[in-house]
Amino acid sequence: MIDLRSDTVTRPTPPMLAAMSAAEVGDDVWGDDPTVLRLQATVAERTGKEAGLFFPSGTQSNLAALMAHCARGDEYIVGQLAHTYKYEGGGAAVLGSIQPQPLENAADGSIPLEKIAAAIKPIDNHFARTRLLALENTIGGKVLPAGYVAEAVQLARQRGLSAHLDGARVYNAAVASGKPVAALCEPFDSVSICFSKGLGAPVGSVLVGSQALIDVAHRWRKVLGGGMRQAGVLAAACLYALDHNVERLADDHANAAHLAAGLEAIEQVKVQSVATNMVFAQFPQQHCAPLETWLKERGILTQMLYASRFVTHKDVSRADIDTFLAAVKEYFAAR
Ligand SMILES: *Cc1c(COP(=O)(O)O)cnc(C)c1O
Repeated sequence: MIDLRSDTVTRPTPPMLAAMSAAEVGDDVWGDDPTVLRLQATVAERTGKEAGLFFPSGTQSNLAALMAHCARGDEYIVGQLAHTYKYEGGGAAVLGSIQPQPLENAADGSIPLEKIAAAIKPIDNHFARTRLLALENTIGGKVLPAGYVAEAVQLARQRGLSAHLDGARVYNAAVASGKPVAALCEPFDSVSICFSKGLGAPVGSVLVGSQALIDVAHRWRKVLGGGMRQAGVLAAACLYALDHNVERLADDHANAAHLAAGLEAIEQVKVQSVATNMVFAQFPQQHCAPLETWLKERGILTQMLYASRFVTHKDVSRADIDTFLAAVKEYFAAR
């Protein structure tokens, strides 16, 4: 199958599986799994932070970070479209007793500075205590403008807030902008990075930040049920991904541009955006369900909505994209 639904569908390759099966392991809840420790130290070093912590998912990594920054009755400022707000089951509120203050994202994924400034609440018993600004990079595939990130975090700091980055795809942002990942992480107190997306590991995220913050997140990870035992087999896949699957993200980005250009040439399709490994396109509503079925019958998995997202990744080749484009063309030619 050619699977364009997400970059989470990437499968571990034989050499990655070999690295996993050769991993030296211990009991990570006791802190003695050498491969997990090596992954945490490596990611901390590459992102320019003091410490790292391995999590089973990005959702849990983000939540533990929010809970490390904010206590019960505190508040975080976040975009309406942010994963930590919209796609994590409301975990910050449900499990963290943290109130989200969502704000409309601009088209480029940023949250306008004046909206952030206006949303930070004065110290007053009527209000939740605004403690944190959470941004996401990439967001909807788009790389946040570096100048914007610097200004937003500076504003947050001036008003006494901390800053968290949901950097699930921060390596896509680094490769697309030609900047070291440490430069993109530098403004933030904490960054959560996914290895189970374009980096191609089966499982895992790493949270980085100061040792003090990671110590608090470590406690929350335990509370959230995220302590894993011989997790070195998973950490080995992430270490393999860091060494072999970062630079190649550029291929995914080129493939997304190719996919977008191909869709653009089809009269019935309107490409809304293409950035890093994601293409968003609009299809006539009445064609969405039949086209999804048509593609599935031809071995292509998509999620056709009015605004459909196509994600490129290491298990989708240039030829696969041409196959997809030909199938879409054939569908519309027959109508
Ligand atoms: C995938 C993703 C996460 C974490 O998702 P998990 O499936 O829990 O690993 C967090 N933020 C963004 C932006 C993501 O795309």
